[in-house]
Amino acid sequence: MELTQEYTDLVDSVRDFAQQVVAPVSAQHDREKTFPYEVVAQMGQMGLFGLPFPEEYGGMGGDYFALALALEELGKVDQSVAITLEAGVGLGAMPIYRFGTDEQKQRWLPDLLAGRALAGFGLTEPGAGSDAGATATTAREDGDSWVLNGAKQFITNSGTDITSLVTVTAVTGAAGDRKEISTIIVPSDTPGFVAEPAYDKVGWHASDTHPLSFSDARVPRENLLGERGRGYANFLSILDEGRIAIAGLATGVAQGCVDACVQYARERKSFGKPIAEYQSVSFAIARMEARAHVARMAYYDAAAKMLAGKPFKKEASIAKMVSSEAAMDNARMGTQIHGGYGFMNEYLVSRHYRDSKILEIGEGTTEVQLMLIARALGLPA
Ligand SMILES: Cc1cc2nc3c(=O)[nH]c(=O)nc-3n(C[C@H](O)[C@H](O)[C@H](O)COP(=O)(O)OP(=O)(O)OC[C@H]3O[C@@H](n4cnc5c(N)ncnc54)[C@H](O)[C@@H]3O)c2cc1C
Repeated sequence: MELTQEYTDLVDSVRDFAQQVVAPVSAQHDREKTFPYEVVAQMGQMGLFGLPFPEEYGGMGGDYFALALALEELGKVDQSVAITLEAGVGLGAMPIYRFGTDEQKQRWLPDLLAGRALAGFGLTEPGAGSDAGATATTAREDGDSWVLNGAKQFITNSGTDITSLVTVTAVTGAAGDRKEISTIIVPSDTPGFVAEPAYDKVGWHASDTHPLSFSDARVPRENLLGERGRGYANFLSILDEGRIAIAGLATGVAQGCVDACVQYARERKSFGKPIAEYQSVSFAIARMEARAHVARMAYYDAAAKMLAGKPFKKEASIAKMVSSEAAMDNARMGTQIHGGYGFMNEYLVSRHYRDSKILEIGEGTTEVQLMLIARALGLPA
């Protein structure tokens, strides 16, 4: 994948923004577990929420690779901010752009693409995670409405002050002996729909995550998103591209740990010399760099195939898996290289250590990626 001047300019401007605007407030938002509204507003003004969308809805006319590149720069310094953008674009706005009617797009996209509003994507339920087809939330037709009952869990961007809607999968009937699953847009102010109190998470403290409940939540019939019965398949296709974006984010984490360690190892002295002069330290950092590089090549390759209109499902799974493992491994080694300071919350590597675990779980666990890769090889999985 060639980095054209356009991509390079984008990377430069997001890197400056990440270092100058995001990094100085990251530790505070993490410590206080506050949502970074001011950062989100500025990302909106920069056009980041509109990156892969056409200009007619207020987008920047870019592509998914541009989004992944931006996420790599943000991921280096702040995973909460990066996942807010990733989920806002890939899970919030993209399903509406991809499957919505013109009316739905006109109504919701301009605010979402400007970062004035956020949308959540509700697939996971208490009894349906990796096995998302086990969805138990129902949507029953009643006159001109859908009436929803059930619960979703772990839903990103679903309860902020600027969340305008969530799209959720729900069982709308039966298709033969299988459930008919459709996708429905639920505006945030719908009576009967509640974003329950936020989770107390191990990491991603400044990212917004809630359980959702639906008790006779009634929305108009025209809030069906995409074809009836295609909800599950549509969501899975959204997740395929989303893996490339997550891989960009995770690559940024892996690289951010390398950058922090190079600097720290030059400055920190032990037994009279910088720890960088001990080969066990410099080799550990070299190995971290290699992991970040391989992760980057994997997501560039998946993005190149996607943009060329070629099959990219297997490559997206590979990129998601190797990059999230690189992030976790580099965060663990980066913390080790920082010694006791690495266990102090104020250090970037320690935040990455807490934040990175979810990268191996969200948007399809490592085991789910292995299942998809094995299936692509024709193996039973
Ligand atoms: C902070 C956060 C944000 C999230 N945001 C969203 C969101 O915005 N929208 C959304 O819909 N979801 C979201 N999720 C949910 C996330 O996608 C799920 O947690 C994830 O898909 C795993 O599902 P689960 O938690 O039910 O685990 P399970 O599916 O119960 O898995 C438990 C373990 O079993 C393994 N496993 C399961 N099935 C198999 C199998 N067949 N073979 C081998 N191993 C298997 C898994 O890999 C895992 O290790 C979020 C989660 C978190 C923590």
